[in-house]
Amino acid sequence: MSQLKYCQGPRCHTYDTKDRKRGPKDNKRNETRRRSSFYYMGGNVCSMQCQADWFDVYGSRALQHFGYLTQPKVLTQDNAWRKSYDWRSREDGGYQHYVYNHLTDERRNITEQQYDNDNIITQDGQLNI
Ligand SMILES: [Zn+2]
Repeated sequence: MSQLKYCQGPRCHTYDTKDRKRGPKDNKRNETRRRSSFYYMGGNVCSMQCQADWFDVYGSRALQHFGYLTQPKVLTQDNAWRKSYDWRSREDGGYQHYVYNHLTDERRNITEQQYDNDNIITQDGQLNI
């Protein structure tokens, strides 16, 4: 059985929807949403609104905790690689997968197995074939 958890949105309880209502007629209240899973903010908030609310309240503190960028990140031809594919472009009706460098416009065909491999392009955008 999956564990129920609360939406971490600081204003979740202030949005007036049926599923947030609790209590008897003379003591009605709205509560923070509670679910087994959420789709937003890494599975921690119930909606884009609650995600935005969280960043409004905690975003700058999170930046202070994890550190601000103090110099620019740089995209060069070494880390400008992306994976993509052309839909049903091969003669047999299959997809043609490729890696593409969007600074140099270089394109190299790859196999579907290579495309499915998350390590072909590093988190940083470097080609790893
Ligand atoms: Zn929420």
